[in-house]
Amino acid sequence: MNLILLGPPGAGKGTQAARLEKLYGFKQLSTGDMLRAAVASGGALGKEVKAIMDRGDLVPDDVIVRMISERITAPDCRDGFILDGFPRTVPQARALDRVLAEKGLRLDHVIELRVDDAVLVARISGRYACASCGANYHDTNRKPRVAGVCDACGGTEFVRRKDDNAGVVATRLKAYHGQTAPLLPYYRERGILASVDGMASIEAVAKEVDQIIGKSGK
Ligand code: AMP
Repeated sequence: MNLILLGPPGAGKGTQAARLEKLYGFKQLSTGDMLRAAVASGGALGKEVKAIMDRGDLVPDDVIVRMISERITAPDCRDGFILDGFPRTVPQARALDRVLAEKGLRLDHVIELRVDDAVLVARISGRYACASCGANYHDTNRKPRVAGVCDACGGTEFVRRKDDNAGVVATRLKAYHGQTAPLLPYYRERGILASVDGMASIEAVAKEVDQIIGKSGK
């Protein structure tokens, strides 16, 4: 099954995508994670996109489309994929349609996670992740069971994203409302869009997502 999770930064796309991957084997493809890995590796792509990402602006469409079109036919996407953070513009969505048609693939569902801007700012500015396994935490909403120790792997080092600060979040939200929100009518017209209240608990959102994709949950 091939899915898109659509929503502003902090809406919970990564959390839900990780759960879907773990339970059902659809591969989570996060363009943000891919770009952060490219920056960390210090190669040409990373150098090209670092300043753009630090500002909270969008990386050029052609860079992203090239990256994702190579990725979706990798063997680990055999059982399906979940696009997390892509597409983010209408030209990206059109390019995705072309790539999918060329490869004989299709989208099953586009799921929007709806969250108010004020809630997003609070969520994003408190979030951090385990440096070893990437498990996500939050200063107030989702603390590790034992302070300073990752629940998932026992790691004791944590990292915060450089662009998760109030100034950059404002730019990222502006990019979402200006450039990404127009994807909602794009997919609604195709009859594959479903919207979920992303302000509900992680478990409640997961339940709704499962219903949309026709899974009973586990
Ligand atoms: P994310 O982890 O999805 O919040 O993405 C972090 C940053 O990576 C964004 O603020 C953009 O600079 C860049 N980025 C990620 N995905 C895309 C995309 N599909 N199109 C353009 N830029 C992207």
